[in-house]
Amino acid sequence: MTDRYAVLGHPIGHSKSPLIHTQFAQATGQDIHYTAIEAPLDGFADTVLAFRASGGRGVNVSLPFKLQAFEIATEPTERARLAGAANCLKFVDGDRILADNFDGVGLVNDIQRNLGFPLAGKRVLLLGAGGATRGALLPIAAERPALLSVANRTPDKAHQLRHDFAAHVPLQTGGYDTLLGQSFDVVINATSTGLSQDALPLPDGLFAPGALAYEMVYGKGLTPFLKQAQAAGVARVADGVGMLVEQAAEAFLWWRGVRPDTAAVLAQLTVPLV
Ligand code: NAP
Repeated sequence: MTDRYAVLGHPIGHSKSPLIHTQFAQATGQDIHYTAIEAPLDGFADTVLAFRASGGRGVNVSLPFKLQAFEIATEPTERARLAGAANCLKFVDGDRILADNFDGVGLVNDIQRNLGFPLAGKRVLLLGAGGATRGALLPIAAERPALLSVANRTPDKAHQLRHDFAAHVPLQTGGYDTLLGQSFDVVINATSTGLSQDALPLPDGLFAPGALAYEMVYGKGLTPFLKQAQAAGVARVADGVGMLVEQAAEAFLWWRGVRPDTAAVLAQLTVPLV
């Protein structure tokens, strides 16, 4: 029997997840049907439960429901608990709802496997202190960077992360002004400025020689952050399309027990950064 999965968000029309999971299923011979569902802003939980009641086996969760997805889970993983957010649910044994957050591991897999940039021993900076940064901290720390730093427009939110993750990850945190005089091997833009097209107040010298500049937003071409990086001489720039595909691969593995190869889907979705 065909197993049903879906991505839930609001809006959801733009989602690449149905294409990604359908291609994963074809490539691995898995019998699944995957759709996109726009849940009402005040009806996320009801939509999830109705999908499960109709035979759904699991869902991916997009904005703005990742916090609510964590809240309806009966068994979140430790990384979902620390992130306070889930981007994937699995329905098992009656009422159990398992939750995980694959955004961070998708980011790390994209940087290390697809872009060929090992994080071990590197100085890594995350710009932004929202849900995407929360999800990225444990997976990045697991790769043993020399330094993991978070800078945010609202410094208290970055300091809160240092507090929340203290038992797991030593973090340097602050506002953008505290970056003056520092340089990093990997700078990841985890703010939403890739969507709003706002520039960040990045000091001169932020990017170390040979640095990677990574924009989590995808499909927007050269964002202000990536343009700033190029203007600073950075040759290695990437957007978040690989993160999207890699988190989907982790979800597929979790649901189906089979790891799909991501290269073909990634090649199809990648657009040149110009
Ligand atoms: P979020 O929780 O809403 O956090 C947004 C962050 O952006 C906050 O740190 C906020 O700073 C900062 N920010 C917003 N506007 C700013 C501005 N004009 N100047 C400086 N900082 C600004 O969002 P999120 O869930 O973390 O997601 C962040 C981005 O990552 C989104 O655009 C999302 O599309 C992308 N993302 C991509 C993937 C992928 O698969 N590629 C996965 C997850 C997320 P304050 O705290 O000061 O407000």
